[in-house]
Amino acid sequence: MNDLSEEMRMPSPCPECGSHRVRLSQVHNPEDKVFCSSCNTQRGLYSDLKRELIESPKSTKEALIEEAANKKS
Ligand SMILES: [Zn+2]
Repeated sequence: MNDLSEEMRMPSPCPECGSHRVRLSQVHNPEDKVFCSSCNTQRGLYSDLKRELIESPKSTKEALIEEAANKKS
């Protein structure tokens, strides 16, 4: 297959199937749509994906646990 697309792993799971894998164009335009690689649900735009990768290196669940722990102490 040579369709100029690549797969990446998102910190957050797909709301439909729970997969962390997404498929996107290798061109990496900020307006490119990013799709779940399992069920093809649109996960957002490449600019959103990039922001999420920068802001949430951990999974959302881990971040919530950490946030709760920080509030206690
Ligand atoms: Zn999915």
